[in-house]
Amino acid sequence: MNDQRLAGIGMTSARTRDRLVQRLREQGIADPVVLERIRNVPRHIFVDEALGSRAYEDTALPIGFGQTISQPYIVARMSEALLAGGPLEKVLEVGTGCGYQAAVLAPLVQQLFTVERIGALLDRAKERLKELDIRNVKFRHGDGTHGWKTQGPFAGILVAAAPLAPPRELLEQLAPGGRLIVPVGQEGKQELLRFTRREEGVVRESLGRVAFVPLLGGKF
Ligand code: SAH
Repeated sequence: MNDQRLAGIGMTSARTRDRLVQRLREQGIADPVVLERIRNVPRHIFVDEALGSRAYEDTALPIGFGQTISQPYIVARMSEALLAGGPLEKVLEVGTGCGYQAAVLAPLVQQLFTVERIGALLDRAKERLKELDIRNVKFRHGDGTHGWKTQGPFAGILVAAAPLAPPRELLEQLAPGGRLIVPVGQEGKQELLRFTRREEGVVRESLGRVAFVPLLGGKF
């Protein structure tokens, strides 16, 4: 991929990205480090060329296999909730999808582990992150409901698909002080939750209503 494609032109140019960042700011995203990543990650390379001109709209877009690339606002909101003002060491992402969220997050953490159940999506995500020269990400093809035990515990876990209840194994893989950001509930009725592992136990906070694809079992 050449530099011009990465930099973008017309509807994928720097000005279009600035407008998106401005919009996210108006919607309450305040972390300058997260906003800078949203500005710098070329979202248009994560979607089909035919959808490139819509890449900097604040909306989810199809990426095949019935899945979507997350809305920039949601990626920013989850990243902000996960980082809570400071960089983290080990972070686990469940639901790599096209790799966009991973690209936003990777430079803000020491090491990112990401699990995806659809092999073809995972392969594409690997390629994109390589093109962006992002090297601190380890990929796994599997069911992320079980986390990644051999690499845990994690300072942060971010789940990009919605289970009906917070997966027990993910809570167990949180390091002391660690945060799990997860959308929970049936389609159309989901709430974004943050669980923080404190000395006195796990604390739960609600971050508002959201719409995610369901977290599914198995892999293919
Ligand atoms: N992080 C992505 C969002 C992708 S959508 C982005 O940046 O756009 C959510 C993804 O979660 C889909 O690709 C879906 O296949 C995946 N997924 C659903 N259930 C899963 C599971 N149990 N384990 C791993 N991935 C899962």
